[in-house]
Amino acid sequence: MKKKILIVTTGGTISMKAGADGVVPSLTGSEIIKLIPGIDSIAELSLFEFSNIPSPMMTPQKMFDLSGLVTSMIEDFDGVVITHGTDTIEETSYMLFLTLQTKKPVIFTAAMRSNEETGLDGPRNLYNAIRVAASDKSYDRGVMLAVNDEIFSVREVYKSSTSQTNAFDAPHYGVLGLIDVDDIIYYRKSEFRYKFKVDRIEPDVDLIKLCAGISRKFIDHSINSGVKGIVIEAFGRGNVNPEMKNGIVDAIHKGIPVVITSRVPNGRVLGIYGYEGGAKQLEENGAIMGYDLNSEKARLKLMVLLGLNKSMDEIRDIFKEDRG
Ligand code: ASP
Repeated sequence: MKKKILIVTTGGTISMKAGADGVVPSLTGSEIIKLIPGIDSIAELSLFEFSNIPSPMMTPQKMFDLSGLVTSMIEDFDGVVITHGTDTIEETSYMLFLTLQTKKPVIFTAAMRSNEETGLDGPRNLYNAIRVAASDKSYDRGVMLAVNDEIFSVREVYKSSTSQTNAFDAPHYGVLGLIDVDDIIYYRKSEFRYKFKVDRIEPDVDLIKLCAGISRKFIDHSINSGVKGIVIEAFGRGNVNPEMKNGIVDAIHKGIPVVITSRVPNGRVLGIYGYEGGAKQLEENGAIMGYDLNSEKARLKLMVLLGLNKSMDEIRDIFKEDRG
């Protein structure tokens, strides 16, 4: 029997076409599906148009609302495919990874080429994502991204090219599987799993990226604005300069949780360096290590944990468990 798959469209280049003013949202959900001839033979499809926006317009609240929508509809389906812009697909998919309770496949997909270009990747990616969502093998593997004939864990993947169709990568971790013409082949299961039961998030969490010589003016602005949490994208192993360290300590003293991530794409932050501003000092002063989670994902996780009213110590412990 054919599987029942819900397609939720949100926008992004997969729904765009070039006009006189450049590439803009143009195609409806049913127009995207019509680009894949014979798709009805793979699965019984239903469509829900959540939005038609470029993904830089996505917000954490919209991501959380999307998670709620999937929760409310998934009961009637065997799997869900979500189309999204590549610019923030990592974040939206991770929000669903953190908050969805289901074990059914929820598969994100996207396109790098807009619909007037030669060699469209959108229809192929959508076709493949539907196949992944309809496969029995995809059950209980967490939220995944299906692009460029590959399957990634959304906890592990990041956008690594601004323009090429192989725009996603998961260095250190690798792909979960391959989408071949005859079958879906999984190589491994991701170790990362987190399902927070949450009915609100705290959207007021700032992210500050460090560069050499940065002053504390941005963190002071965050503190003075009454922000509820801060992520610091630090250097290397999680180190900052002395001025920023003082800003971080002030924020912590005011009760604001500060999560440290790294601007280096691979590896973990850890309290190794003991000099003024080294991550060891930050840890000793109460900063929370984000370990291998990238800054954008650490920010969403902090929003979820603050939405659950977790204390600073509880947040530290949950980040340390390192499984989400
Ligand atoms: N700017 C587009 C978006 O994220 C890029 C894409 O979809 O590939 O909406």
